Amino acid sequence: MTKTILIKGGRVYDHDADTDRPAAADILIEGGRIVGIAPQIPAERAERVIDAADRLVLPGFVNAHYHSHDTMLKGMLHPVPFDMWLLNCLPPAYPPRSPAELRARTMLGAAECLKSGITTLQDMVTLHPISEENVDTVLAAYEEIGIRVVLSLQIGDRFGIELTPFWRECVPEHLHDRLGSAVEEGAGAGPFEQAVEQYRRIGQGRPRMSWALGPSTPLLCTPDLLRRIAALAESDGLPVITHVNEARTEALSAKTILAEHGGSQVGYLRDMGLLGPGTGMAHTVWLTEAEIEMVTEAGATVILNPASNMKTLSGAAPVPLYLAAGTRVALGCDNCSCSDIQNTFLAMRLVCSLAGLHDPQRNAIPPAAQVIRWATEGGAGALGLADEVGALKPGMKADMTLLDLGRPSYLPFNSAARQTVFSEAGAAVHTVLVDGRVVLEGGRLTMTDEDALRDAVEEAAVDLRRDFAAVNARFEEVYEYLQEAWLRSWREDIGIARTIAPPRF
Ligand SMILES: [Zn+2]
Repeated sequence: MTKTILIKGGRVYDHDADTDRPAAADILIEGGRIVGIAPQIPAERAERVIDAADRLVLPGFVNAHYHSHDTMLKGMLHPVPFDMWLLNCLPPAYPPRSPAELRARTMLGAAECLKSGITTLQDMVTLHPISEENVDTVLAAYEEIGIRVVLSLQIGDRFGIELTPFWRECVPEHLHDRLGSAVEEGAGAGPFEQAVEQYRRIGQGRPRMSWALGPSTPLLCTPDLLRRIAALAESDGLPVITHVNEARTEALSAKTILAEHGGSQVGYLRDMGLLGPGTGMAHTVWLTEAEIEMVTEAGATVILNPASNMKTLSGAAPVPLYLAAGTRVALGCDNCSCSDIQNTFLAMRLVCSLAGLHDPQRNAIPPAAQVIRWATEGGAGALGLADEVGALKPGMKADMTLLDLGRPSYLPFNSAARQTVFSEAGAAVHTVLVDGRVVLEGGRLTMTDEDALRDAVEEAAVDLRRDFAAVNARFEEVYEYLQEAWLRSWREDIGIARTIAPPRF
């Protein structure tokens, strides 16, 4: 049983009220939920009182797109195009990892999230293999650190060199095995049955944990797999999170491979019964206006990951088009080897800033308060947690972040929303509650020993660095051919632009 906690005197951020200068209020928390928000709640009603007089209390951020499998690869890679980056980061390219490494990497990613005010994350983890032991290790790590997780096991069943434009033409045949993790069976994923077995075994009853389904990208899934996913999503009410048109090459591949679905991954999802309010589509950088209209009408959510899109040279999502269409939007921080940070403050700032590349007009840029909504309520909606997390209201889960208003980023205190989006980078995160439990206080984790975690990470990193070197050496052997293929793909017109300029040939 969690304690009754009173958060006293903080400026409580309400999406629907004054987002510049939120009014001070007390928040009473009981049984993991907010039970009251009022100007004065008597302290004697609580077992513990947290003085929030100098705090901004925000609903915890929802990191709606994330993968825990490569949290220890941050800083290992120089930016390369998305298709090439995949070769260095996918777990099937590596030998199976030890339980100690799995635990350390899962805890590390969750720790980084909590320290930047993220209280819910959607972990679309690629486990290699999908085994009982691996799933249990991941879930035990989340249970220990105290963050809320929506877990999905990334799966796909369509593989082959044809899926990436010009790889077959450009990479000499004797080097095709160097592309193994991207083109061979078992690469990005494991089979549907294994994922469902784990979902059924664990069930939905655990605290702070729920399930989503994780088809890797529509392109990497056969119609049969997508239909089975759609059927399970519908029967069990599960959200489906997938990747859609992150890279320009995906939009190009879809034109031929998915010709019978309008040459579109969005069209393919629609035809498979997977385009609806329960669908979250990560990235959506390279969607046409017609595809954006389909997504918006279906009530699906686009999950924008600006930091990773920039580092994998994929361009910037057309935020002004989503804003004008009224598309449902959420934000994510994606892989640690391509973003390389779990920080919603940065994601929010980039979403606003990059919007100006597409349309440098005032009304094309989402207001800061809107972006905070996307980073909280938007993510909750995509993950099947609407009315549970994402806002501070009685009845909702007590997931919140207390920011120190004494930090330079909030001085002088002009606008809670704009300073959160444009001035703050995470250093003001002081206290974090998830499910009514204090999981971070004074910037330190409370549920786990941070120093021991650090040691575990450094110890596991020794093996990982060795294995990375081998994976990277195979990549370097094919790099020049992949680069040639990538440049060739840019010679094909796809009718939309999501970078300022194409590569200089
Ligand atoms: Zn992803």
